[in-house]
Amino acid sequence: MNTTETNTIKKPKMGSPVGVGGYVSTRNSCKLCAPLGASLVFKGIEGCVPLLHGSQGCATYIRRYMISHFKEPVDIASSNFSEESTIYGGSRNFITGIDNIIKQYKPTVIGIASTCLSETIGEDIPGHIRHYQEANEGNGKTLPTFIHASTPSYAGSHAEGFHNTVLATIKTLAEYEKAGSHVTILPGMVSPADLRYLKELLSDFGIKFTLFPDYSETLDNEYTAEYQLIPTGGTPIHEIQRIGNSKAVIEFGSMFNKTALRSKDKGTIQTAGEWLESTHYIKNHQMPLPIGIAATDRFIAALKDITGLELPEYHRKERGRLVDSYVDGHKYIFGKKALLYGEIDLVEALAEWCREIGIEPYYIKSTDFETLRAEANNIKPDFLLGNSKGYYIARERGIPLVRVGFPIHDRVGANRMHHIGYRGTQELFDRVVNTLLEYKQEHSPIGFKYM
Ligand code: SF4
Repeated sequence: MNTTETNTIKKPKMGSPVGVGGYVSTRNSCKLCAPLGASLVFKGIEGCVPLLHGSQGCATYIRRYMISHFKEPVDIASSNFSEESTIYGGSRNFITGIDNIIKQYKPTVIGIASTCLSETIGEDIPGHIRHYQEANEGNGKTLPTFIHASTPSYAGSHAEGFHNTVLATIKTLAEYEKAGSHVTILPGMVSPADLRYLKELLSDFGIKFTLFPDYSETLDNEYTAEYQLIPTGGTPIHEIQRIGNSKAVIEFGSMFNKTALRSKDKGTIQTAGEWLESTHYIKNHQMPLPIGIAATDRFIAALKDITGLELPEYHRKERGRLVDSYVDGHKYIFGKKALLYGEIDLVEALAEWCREIGIEPYYIKSTDFETLRAEANNIKPDFLLGNSKGYYIARERGIPLVRVGFPIHDRVGANRMHHIGYRGTQELFDRVVNTLLEYKQEHSPIGFKYM
């Protein structure tokens, strides 16, 4: 797991960091591993089976994390390194793994992510893929499409694994034929409900679009009597290929793009949107996740600008209801302190939203839960806003935790939770206000049933 982090606690727009220095090893890390992010992207491709090139434990850990959050079956294959493959290389395991996946799943795509072990011993995964194709093509076999993402966890978290895999997939598949009229949306790491919302919004707008990755069905599917080896849904290959012809790209998560990725390789084009802009000359509209009225207005303005279309009435009214609810709920939350944690993209967007509604956001950059716990003593937040891994801090302090993001392992419905757009903001706002009201009610010496 990740072992070195920088500890910085920020109270945004309030001057200097409130400060934590000292140790570098992490305890109870906030970050998850990079192939987990890669697996999430691969689950968002139609007909795709993810394969982790490394030891069995990595796939087991990632499956367990994703299943507990999404409450869906999550098949992730492993090339199952042993001591022997660690010393002599994993090419035989790779071939056996691919053969087994093709035999059992008949996938159209195999998404291959490296792990700490295979990266450390210098496995040549592109070479393994090439050798497999050379040995098997032309034997009457139709091989699946192979996508490879390099995702050592010591070089990045699950969020970096996610973004790197989006980039690797688009680099592998995007083609250019002629300029199209569709818009590509790169939504980042959002919930299945958020993805469904985006599809509904874009369809209502009348916009032709490609959404990638799209795990809105594969990780939140309907009940079927028979087990689906590969769940339905996901962005089809031909849609990813046509990303190269897009009229424009909208890429969420600019804070992450500007810091984490770029710091490793200064000056090099790193995000998928930026790569498309530089190689396919497609305008990339990079922006934070649209959480809050200002952030969603920014997203809608970009859509209008690209297409010349107007926001449909139904969604305009959702915005109006959100404004109305801010007026209704403002007095119950103004001046409260929220301690935020999670992926940078999400935390940055939530911090902007908190400022919009009068909540003071405190957030942590790249650290672990022990640091968060220690800082909670100084900040004395009124509530936590983050994933379920921070629950023990909320419990210890006797304050509420409003669950957002990934992972949420102690509740059902994480895949149906909205975060983005006017609708997602509305859901978040109601949850935050009602959570604080419930806390006040439960701790009132006389109680109340009217306000
Ligand atoms: S890839 Fe690395 S961090 Fe992730 S589970 Fe495997 S060993 Fe742990």
